[in-house]
Amino acid sequence: MITRALLSTRHLTRAMSTTAKIHVFDPTKPASAAAALWPAAASKHPKASATRVVFSAEDDSVTALASLGPEFGAKKGHARREVVRRAVGSAMKQVAAVEDVNEVVVDGEADPHAAAVAAHLAAYRFTLKTSGPKRVQSSAIKALESSAEWDRGVVYGEAQNLARTLMELPSNMLTPSIFAERIQQEFAGLADTTVWVRDEDWAREKGMRTFLSVCAGSNEDGKFVEMHYQGAPSSDAAPLVLVGKGITFDTGGISLKPAADMKLMRGDMGGAAAVVAAIQAIAKLKLPINVVALTPLTENMPSGSATKPGDIIYAMNGKTVEVDNTDAEGRLVLADAIYYGSTEFNAHTLIDVATLTGAMDIALGEVFTGVFTPSDTLWDQLYVAGEHEYDRFWRMPLDDDYAPQISGSNADLCNTGGKPAGSCTAALFLKSFVHGLDAEKPIEWAHIDIAGTMEATREKPYLLKGMTGSGVRALIEYASRLAERQADTDTEMNATE
Ligand SMILES: [Zn+2]
Repeated sequence: MITRALLSTRHLTRAMSTTAKIHVFDPTKPASAAAALWPAAASKHPKASATRVVFSAEDDSVTALASLGPEFGAKKGHARREVVRRAVGSAMKQVAAVEDVNEVVVDGEADPHAAAVAAHLAAYRFTLKTSGPKRVQSSAIKALESSAEWDRGVVYGEAQNLARTLMELPSNMLTPSIFAERIQQEFAGLADTTVWVRDEDWAREKGMRTFLSVCAGSNEDGKFVEMHYQGAPSSDAAPLVLVGKGITFDTGGISLKPAADMKLMRGDMGGAAAVVAAIQAIAKLKLPINVVALTPLTENMPSGSATKPGDIIYAMNGKTVEVDNTDAEGRLVLADAIYYGSTEFNAHTLIDVATLTGAMDIALGEVFTGVFTPSDTLWDQLYVAGEHEYDRFWRMPLDDDYAPQISGSNADLCNTGGKPAGSCTAALFLKSFVHGLDAEKPIEWAHIDIAGTMEATREKPYLLKGMTGSGVRALIEYASRLAERQADTDTEMNATE
C-alpha cells in the first residue's frame, strides 16, 4: 500500500526529526482527521485498537489512527477508559518505532487522563545499550489540547515509568546507597517533602533486628529511607503510611536460589520503587493529605556473616522469629518497617507493597495483584482505585486458620509456612507486626503482593516486555480518592461548627 512504499523512500529523505500525531477515533462517528485519512473506517468500523499509520510525502508527516471500536459509544467507566488506553498505546508503539519520530502529539479527547497514561507507558523503553534504540522522551509527548486531566495522567504515567526504571536497573547500578541517593535526587526541590536516609546504626538503635538480619550477609550497607509529604492543611493530620520492600538484589542468602532467571531478582525492590514513585506523584499532584513512605533497602547475600537457617531473631516488636529459609527475607525487612510505620506516626492507614512470594505468581499470574487486608472498607477503596487505572487487584485470604503453618517452630513465628498458600502465610506473618489492629479505632492495613505482576513476560497493549511498575497508578488513585474523602469530611465538620 501507499504506506509501505512511502516508508521506504521516506527513510532516505525525511528530515532528522518528525512530529507524529495520534488520533483515536470512534469509527461510528469518525472525526475529520480519521475520515480524511482512513475513509473506509466509517463504513467498516475497524475493531478496537486497530491502528493504521499514514505517511504523507507532501508535508512529511506521520499520523497514527487508532480505532476505539464499534462498541465504544456503549462503553462506560472503567471499560471505556481501558479501550482508550489500548488504542493510544497501540498507536504510540507504532509511531515510536518509526525511525525519525521523536515528538508525538496525542489527540486524547476521548479521555485525556487515560490517553496520557497510555502514551507515556507505551513510549517507555529501558536500555543501557550505548547505541541503543531511539526513544520518544516523556517531555516530547504532548496533548493536542491541554487539560488538567491530561496533566494528571502524565504524572501517573511518569510515576509508573520511574518505578519501571528503578526495577530494571541492575543491582550493581542500584545498591541500597545508590537507591537512597536517587530518592534524594527525585525529591530535590519538591515542595512539602522531606527525605531522611537512615543507616544501619540508626536501625540498630531502633531495634530493627529482623531488617538487620538480612543486611548482615552483604558488603553493601543497608539503608532505611523515610520520605514525608505534608500536604494536609494540618501538619498533625494522621498520615497514610506506605511501606515498600527494597531488596536491591535477592540471591536467597544461604538458602541460595537456583541460577536460572536469578537476574529477575534485581527487581526485588519493586515494592520500594512503587511507594517512592507513588509518594512523589502524590506530592507533584499536591494532594491535601499527609503521607509517609518507608523503604528498608538491602541486598540479600550469602556470606560468612549471613544469617543462617534456624537462626532466631528478636524483631523490633519483641516477637521471636525463626529464619527457616533465608530466601524468605522480604517479610523480615518488612516486619520491622511495618511495626515502625504503625507505631511512629499515628497512621490511619498503612499499606505495604512487596514482591513477596513466588506463590503469588502461581495463584494469580501477571494479571491481578493480590491484596490481603482485614478491612472490607480498605479493600473496596483499593479495588475501585485499581479498576479505575486497570492496575487490578484481587482480594486474597488473610485468615488465622493458616497460622499453624508459621507457628510450629521454637520461636513465636517461623519465616516460612511451606508451599501451600505461601502468599497467604506470608501475609499472616506480616499481620503480626502491624500495631493497632485491635485498637478501638483500628489502623487500616493492606498488604499488596506484586510478585506475580512485577514483570510482563508478554507484551501488553501499552506495556512492552519487562518490569511493569504495577501498583503505582492504583496507589496514586487510591490516595487521590482518599484526599477527596478527607476534604469532604473537613467540609462537613466545618459546616457543623
Ligand atoms: Zn527472597
